[in-house]
Amino acid sequence: MNSPQTLLVIGIHREELAFGQAVAGGVDPAQVAVLEIPEGLSGQPPPIARRFQYEALHRALYLQLLPHVLNRHRLLVDLHSGSDPQLGADLICADPALCECLRTALAGGGHLAGAEVRVVPLGDESADLHARTIIPPQVWRNPAFLYLGLEIYLPGPADEWPAACALARELIAIAAGCAGRLDGR
Ligand SMILES: [Zn+2]
Repeated sequence: MNSPQTLLVIGIHREELAFGQAVAGGVDPAQVAVLEIPEGLSGQPPPIARRFQYEALHRALYLQLLPHVLNRHRLLVDLHSGSDPQLGADLICADPALCECLRTALAGGGHLAGAEVRVVPLGDESADLHARTIIPPQVWRNPAFLYLGLEIYLPGPADEWPAACALARELIAIAAGCAGRLDGR
């Protein structure tokens, strides 16, 4: 298998594509393959009356990722971004061993100082109901690969992106390291 172990997907939400491109522009193509969604969905949920269609479109878009991942990659990183006064990140993962490895790696990492990084388990809490309704289980709970949702919280305009991009790339590298370690399970 010649593909990199990790596939980075950017632009599921179209408003977040520009940041995704900034992150993807700095990854090593030998380590991380990039899949850019040219016409993603809006990250802003519509009024409740149109929520059903919005969630159905999300599920359909996520299912289109499967042929890009299966038999090619071991780890799918689904990059998102939001805004927050403080630079930070959520690592959303369903696999308990991956969550545990990420927690351990983050506890030992000094490079992430200044950023608030949380590991959010997906799949067993009502708090993540929204994520579960828009991401089909074939994507977040597929025995053939690991899923990681990576949400980066951007504190300011685009000229403050370099630190956020560096954080995103470091977290992708940490996740790739975990995926490699878990591969022999
Ligand atoms: Zn998003």
